[in-house]
Amino acid sequence: MISLVIPIFNEALSLKQLIAEINKVLLPMKIDFEIIFVNDGSTDNSEAIIDRLKQKSPQHIKSIRLRRNFGKATALSAGFNMAKGKVIITMDGDLQDDPKEIPHFIKKIESGFDLVSGWKQHRRDSLIKNTSSKLFNLVTRKATGINLHDFNCGFKAYRAETVHRLALYGELHRYIPALIAAQGYQVGEILVNHRKRRYGKSKYGALRFIYGFFDLLTVIFITKYRLRPLHMIGPIGLIFFLSGLAGATYLTYEKLILNQTIGNRPLLLLSVMSMIMGVQIGITGLVGEQITASIESLKKHDHQQPTQTH
Ligand code: UDP
Ligand code: MG
Repeated sequence: MISLVIPIFNEALSLKQLIAEINKVLLPMKIDFEIIFVNDGSTDNSEAIIDRLKQKSPQHIKSIRLRRNFGKATALSAGFNMAKGKVIITMDGDLQDDPKEIPHFIKKIESGFDLVSGWKQHRRDSLIKNTSSKLFNLVTRKATGINLHDFNCGFKAYRAETVHRLALYGELHRYIPALIAAQGYQVGEILVNHRKRRYGKSKYGALRFIYGFFDLLTVIFITKYRLRPLHMIGPIGLIFFLSGLAGATYLTYEKLILNQTIGNRPLLLLSVMSMIMGVQIGITGLVGEQITASIESLKKHDHQQPTQTH
């Protein structure tokens, strides 16, 4: 069985055609499937249209409605919780993703990949958006070491196990491949056809990519340093501390050996500040370690519970 998870935020005009196109591809394949619409707090009449579509084919269409607009990551996460399929496919609800690609995704998953991401090589959006997306992908590729061209493509296929281990929130949907690959899963990509948006408008402008770079920091942190925060923070603190120490040593030499007054030297203030900052940053890392250790020992405690009650 496959599950299609489709986040919807004000896409009323696209829904009917979307279902028609999906049915045209999936019905002849004679496979068991479900389509899960996640209405992410739409304010148009998407909900009414989803209800009508659901009445027409209750065996295939399911839906969840979020109380307000929580964003795509939360919408996907809600859809994943409901999905029963062995393969889960996400696609945008704005008709920009072409359902004809679905069989190609399934084939690639069957060839052994855990996550297959779409690659919109010819992206049909505005020039600014296409360019900033290229930059975003280049940076993400370098930072995560994962060789994908289009991290943020909404069209993806997952082996069910991978999504059930994924904690998605905020705007981390842009980095799903990095989060999944960090757990040792095989990640691949296929070229997909991308179409112009015909109805409604895009919810994400180019500006969003700026937040995206901050999210990248978060992702690097939670994929590489989650269990060892001091390794990421420690070196930064050390650099501050050592440069402060170097300045202070030099001033001490001037004072003691060369007999100069140093009370009026800007370097004095700089060195003292730098050393204090270094110590503070280092302590932040230690607090991080402490939190990690507590959480890990709680987890272990949880696992032991059942064996202790015999
Ligand atoms: N979307 C959503 N919640 C949001 C923003 C977007 O569920 O807060 C959905 C939207 O309805 C669409 C998909 O996410 O199905 C992709 O959004 P959009 O087409 O606006 O992004 P773009 O293709 O312009 O990057
Ligand atoms: Mg779109």
